Amino acid sequence: MSKVIIKKSTYDYDILRPRVFEIMDALGGERIKKNSHVVIKPNLLAPAPPDKAIVTHPLVIKAAAEYVLQKGARPVISDSSAMGSFQKVLSESGIKDALKGLDVEFREFKTSLKVSVGEPFGKIEIAEDALKADFLINLPKFKTHMQMLLTLGVKNLFGCIVGIRKPEWHFRTGVDREMFAKLLVNIYKAVSPDMTIIDAILAMEGQGPGRRGTPKHLGVLMGSRNGIALDIAACKMLGIQPDKLLTNKLAKDMGLADKAIEIEGDFPEIKHFKMPDITPLVFGPQKLHRLMRKHLVQRPVCDDAVCRLCGECWKYCPAKAITRGRKKLNFDYDKCIRCYCCIEVCPHAALLAKETITGKVLRRVIKR
Ligand code: SF4
Ligand code: SF4
Repeated sequence: MSKVIIKKSTYDYDILRPRVFEIMDALGGERIKKNSHVVIKPNLLAPAPPDKAIVTHPLVIKAAAEYVLQKGARPVISDSSAMGSFQKVLSESGIKDALKGLDVEFREFKTSLKVSVGEPFGKIEIAEDALKADFLINLPKFKTHMQMLLTLGVKNLFGCIVGIRKPEWHFRTGVDREMFAKLLVNIYKAVSPDMTIIDAILAMEGQGPGRRGTPKHLGVLMGSRNGIALDIAACKMLGIQPDKLLTNKLAKDMGLADKAIEIEGDFPEIKHFKMPDITPLVFGPQKLHRLMRKHLVQRPVCDDAVCRLCGECWKYCPAKAITRGRKKLNFDYDKCIRCYCCIEVCPHAALLAKETITGKVLRRVIKR
């Protein structure tokens, strides 16, 4: 049986700090040994201030770091951001300022170790610092995700894939969301965090997880030793079937999800939480998939008036489907695998996913 703890909180540090400490105590914080090396892995997707709800709130990270220091251990804040330099993410998010004066190290994930996870992935390269930590605290942000529906406890550990390897894995798993979910569950299993606490005080709804998403106040922190149980509880909190989040479904198929979950604390009933518009990618006979992907599945499009041709999207695109034209971007929709990473990393919210006219018409016909 896995226990999930949910506590109401705000970002007022006098309220937040004791809440984080209570959760960490309840999740077995006494396992943090003196002088041990504790890695704290927040969601540091991109340089963005806390009110955009893109990164884990600096004060949640501060409270976790203070808890670790109180145990006499050495906290290290680490991640491999999808865009922007690690230092830029730390300064623009306010994390550097919030943790000023604390004996905390900031260290970007740089080197990896190969971990064998079996077929179909074989060996996955995962951040060495995450694998070698004496204790790992996973600190995700509660956000919607255009490709995977939500990014919570399990998805947050995709940040343990270092730098360029992330788009490579997107490319290898292609349009198959189940395959990508399986990869995420395998990474979670390999990293195996000692506790996960989700910052759901200011969450994100709509077209997350980047600048296209909309901040949404939920007012809770959620914690568990088991990130999969935590993700299942989060779905229940939103009133959606847990299996709709594919990482939950895949974890269940792989025998990793606990059948019994005990939820303790302030379980809120969240109404009117806007999920991202996700269309089924492909269905039916294999030979039609490519055609369907091109004509039926939402495709990334650019608002040329907003785009600043900064290059973040084409640098990241795993399929090399974006090129710079003289005044605007060009997309090769034959190459595009619909991972929506470009939308995620665009710092100016210039990209959005749009359904094609053929897609709209066919979907109506199919629904009849
Ligand atoms: S779409 Fe966004 S990320 Fe891509 S070049 Fe334009 S502003 Fe930069
Ligand atoms: S164009 Fe965007 S959605 Fe398509 S493969 Fe590249 S990053 Fe993914």
